[in-house]
Formats: sequence, structure tokens, C-alpha cells
Amino acid sequence: MHMSHFTVCTRFRGVSALALCSAALQHRRWQEIDVFREMLILFGRGLRLVCPVCGEGRLFYPWRFKMYERCQVCGFIYEREEGYFTGAMAVNLVIAELLMTIVVIPLSLQPWASLVVIILSGLAMSILLPCLFYRHSKGIWMSLDHILHPVEDV
Ligand SMILES: [Zn+2]
Repeated sequence: MHMSHFTVCTRFRGVSALALCSAALQHRRWQEIDVFREMLILFGRGLRLVCPVCGEGRLFYPWRFKMYERCQVCGFIYEREEGYFTGAMAVNLVIAELLMTIVVIPLSLQPWASLVVIILSGLAMSILLPCLFYRHSKGIWMSLDHILHPVEDV
């Protein structure tokens, strides 16, 4: 069968365009995997209470609620702007409310649970949970912030 020059070129172009498209998709897929991997790393650093930038310096003094001003390893200043940790309070509130809801609503549906038990358990949790998650809510907040606003020059 005779094939004109035009047909060969078109086919050649078609194949190369397909190959380019495939390569671009593959590249994009790798980029997505990298972004997802980066998010997991940052989230892990938040949970481990270490610096979101280098992943080595600790956020808090040992066994205390007090936070270091800057990373002991890379020198990154943790409070990026005034009022930076207001978002951490929101994270803390969401975690505490979620756990309270998971416990107190099923508890209130039990026939044996009196109103006093329900109110006392809700009260105890609303005081204890924000204290328990104080440090981790700051770590998680920093992770979320660094996922959305990464440090450029490190
Ligand atoms: Zn650091």
C-alpha cells in the first residue's frame, strides 16, 4: 500500500504527540505523588512535634507547654507572624469537640447513663482534652500552614 509523505508525517506527529502527552501525564502523576509525600512528611513532623522545616529541632521544651522561640537545628522562627497560633486554637477546638461528640452522644443514648454522668463526662472532657492536645494542635497547625505556605528559601 502506498503511503503519502503527508500521511507518514501526520502519523509520526500523532505518535509523538501521544508520547509527549503520556510523558506529561506521567510527570504530573509523579508531581502529585511528590506533593502527597511532602504533605505526609509535614503532617508527621507536626505529630512528632518537631520543626516543620528541617524535621529535627523540637517545638517544645521537654514535658512542658512552653514552646521554643526558634528551631534549635535550623534556626527557623516558629511564630511566623503575630497571632500565628490562633489557628492552633481552632485545631484544638475541632479535635476536642470531635472526640467529645464521639464519646458523649453514644453515652447519652444508653438507658443506664444518668444525666449527671453525661454532664460530668462532657465537662471533664471539655477541660482535659484541650490540655492534652495543646501541644499537638500547635504541631498540626504548623504542618497545615507549611503545606499551604511552604518556606521558600530553605
Ligand atoms: Zn528546624
